[in-house]
Amino acid sequence: MNLRDSASEERFRSGLRTWLASAVPAHGERPHSADWPTRREYDTGWQRRLHEAGYAGVSWPAEHGGRGASLLEQLVYYEETARAGAPDIGVNFVGLMHGGPTIAVEGTHEQKERHLAGILRGDQVWCQGFSEPEAGSDLASLRARAVRDGDSYVVTGRKIWTTYAHIADYCELLVRTDPDAPRHAGITWLVLPMDSPGLEIRPLDTIEGESEFNELFLDEVRVPVDHRVGAENDGWRVAGVTLRFERGTAYAGMIVELAQGIRRMARICRDLGERELARDLGRLQAEADALWAMVKLSVCESDRSGVPAIAGSAIKLAYTEAYQRTHELGLRLLGRRALCRGDLRGFPTRAMLHDYFWSIQTTISGGTSQVQRDIIAERILGLPRDR
Ligand SMILES: Cc1cc2nc3c(=O)[nH]c(=O)nc-3n(C[C@H](O)[C@H](O)[C@H](O)COP(=O)(O)OP(=O)(O)OC[C@H]3O[C@@H](n4cnc5c(N)ncnc54)[C@H](O)[C@@H]3O)c2cc1C
Repeated sequence: MNLRDSASEERFRSGLRTWLASAVPAHGERPHSADWPTRREYDTGWQRRLHEAGYAGVSWPAEHGGRGASLLEQLVYYEETARAGAPDIGVNFVGLMHGGPTIAVEGTHEQKERHLAGILRGDQVWCQGFSEPEAGSDLASLRARAVRDGDSYVVTGRKIWTTYAHIADYCELLVRTDPDAPRHAGITWLVLPMDSPGLEIRPLDTIEGESEFNELFLDEVRVPVDHRVGAENDGWRVAGVTLRFERGTAYAGMIVELAQGIRRMARICRDLGERELARDLGRLQAEADALWAMVKLSVCESDRSGVPAIAGSAIKLAYTEAYQRTHELGLRLLGRRALCRGDLRGFPTRAMLHDYFWSIQTTISGGTSQVQRDIIAERILGLPRDR
């Protein structure tokens, strides 16, 4: 495993760094988190800038309009964008990481024409309608029902925890098309336009009072059959296809940001002459370094073998738990300042409180820590399956 940039990675890094140095300040300040129309404009505007500069969809193949970067170049991209303080993927997450890649592999020609360029340019925002009140970790028990009627599916059911649904244009929707088939075999993947009649979106307030999440209520919503991706009842396999695109880089950007957050906290400690948290901060920095080495190792492995490295679950588990401990430490650093939710004398109280509350969900979304431990036990350590 070579940890140094090759000549072409070095060229990619310096070109990107130069571009970011002017593009990031030109994009302006991040809007208030509760101002959703402006947030959408800010995130999709950044996506447009990336597109114009040739950096949109770094992990997408060039034939679908992406950058077609190698896995190691993708790591460079995450390092440099985090280093430059660039806007994160934000509301473009589902389109760029799930919806678009799935359509690129499984979609029809018309579906590719309808969606791919729009996602890369920041013109289409997507959300993910997978989870239901009784189907989270055990997603295959989903019940939202779709019945074929002529050229449409008629969908009735309920989805929950649908991030960004209130500002999305499309939703990747998993529905049950054959209730009599074995659980994994009766599921279909549909593209739901978010302005469809019969769809009601209700916000779910978080502990911070923000409405990032929603519940979807679908009452006989008609989805054209040509919005189906893959064959009817083959949706479980289609949903798994997306993972091929991530191949170990899924948490790379977040781990770079974690290391930066730790360094920011160390700076605050230095300014305050605070010594008590030094040992914890040192340990977290070492964990962040180890995580980065794990990501590089797993990327090099999948680069060589062409198959996703199995270490993804271990990285997810270790990253999210380190992230939570980092922001708990932030709360200890804030002390009584946390009682005042606004920034006080240059102390970034608001951001630190936000990061702390946000950290709570990281061990749930994208597969809970308990489920990751099961995967590590069974697939990495070869222990007997949990019944
Ligand atoms: C921030 C955030 C954003 C999200 N965004 C979306 C989104 O956009 N679209 C979407 O569809 N969903 C989204 N989700 C939902 C997410 O996918 C689910 O919360 C997750 O899959 C867990 O499901 P659940 O909440 O139903 O918990 P459950 O599956 O009911 O789990 C409850 C508890 O039981 C444990 N458990 C369950 N099964 C096992 C097992 N086999 N072994 C050991 N322990 C187990 C879990 O670890 C957990 O502690 C989001 C969630 C969060 C937190």
